[in-house]
Amino acid sequence: DETLLGLCRPGFEADLAAELNFHAADNMVAGYPRATAHSGYVLWHSQQGSMAAVMESGLIFARSLSLAIGQFADIGDDRISALWPLLEDAAPFCEVYLDHPDTNEGRELQRFLKGFRKALEPRLRKAGLLRQNARQRVHLFFSDSHNGWVSTSPAAIPLAEGGVRRLKLPSEAPSRSALKVEEALLRFFGSTEALTARTAVDLGAAPGGWSWQLARRGIKVQAVDHGKLNAQLLDEYPVEHIYGDAFTWRPRSPVDLVVCDVVDKPARTLQQMEKWLVQGWSRAALFNLKLPMKRRFQEVWQLLEKLSASMEKHPERGQVEIKAAHLYYDREEITVWAAFHRDY
Ligand code: SAM
Repeated sequence: DETLLGLCRPGFEADLAAELNFHAADNMVAGYPRATAHSGYVLWHSQQGSMAAVMESGLIFARSLSLAIGQFADIGDDRISALWPLLEDAAPFCEVYLDHPDTNEGRELQRFLKGFRKALEPRLRKAGLLRQNARQRVHLFFSDSHNGWVSTSPAAIPLAEGGVRRLKLPSEAPSRSALKVEEALLRFFGSTEALTARTAVDLGAAPGGWSWQLARRGIKVQAVDHGKLNAQLLDEYPVEHIYGDAFTWRPRSPVDLVVCDVVDKPARTLQQMEKWLVQGWSRAALFNLKLPMKRRFQEVWQLLEKLSASMEKHPERGQVEIKAAHLYYDREEITVWAAFHRDY
């Protein structure tokens, strides 16, 4: 048996548990979740079969997923000695993540964790347990300062410590929403360089945070919105403002990427993105889906299944790739990447 540790936004434990249950059933793995509301994490215990494939594919509601190698409970203040046998057993590691729940209590652990890292890392390095070429990271997840789990994750899967990527917002960014685009690229592709589009349409673009993210990477953007766009953005970047309706406007020639951050019913946004992709107006789409109030995972999954089914009816356009995540900078929404081919 195996225990997976998933971190999520506090309040979304039931969604992550539902998602894990769904994928377990899909992979014929028997097991059950353990989750406390608003704790910011979910444990999933498998009794038969392995969840490794699920870890690889990444989950919508998991900010981070790792495989537990041991639990620690009420350890004394000499934590390193207490944890050493576990660490020695599972080493080597390329990186140490000191994880905590993204709750108020969890965040209070940050100062302690900083000191703990200073003590732990040199010891691991000296013992040869921490080396750059190792293929896995070790996570020490503290649910409080004396309790938690030790787990590992493959280095090849891009993750962030505590599942949280804090990104800097340059002062010229027209809106905070810009951070979602950057986080989505990091989460989905491990790097912002992965976006190789040359032309894009931004539906519901104002004030222009998403357009700015694209334009500053040299992408030519047509920004559709009835509202005003940031003046500096229009002056300094290759962005054309189109006063039009996001749901009816269509491009004169196909583009590489369409993005959409219009707040609307998820089914409506999805239908719109499906149209752009299937009609060949764009090869890739990056968009937000507002989350329903209830059964959030199930509802969202159904919509994504519908999208992939209609895209798969067009194999001539290329292979279908769909990725979705509840990002750190997302609240009641998720961010979706859907594309034919993978290079955009
Ligand atoms: N992504 C933008 C950014 O980073 O600055 C923020 C977009 S904001 C959440 C949603 C935008 O969609 C608003 O500016 C609104 O005017 C626009 N919008 C909503 N419905 C629209 C429609 N039918 N046609 C065009 N724009 C629309």
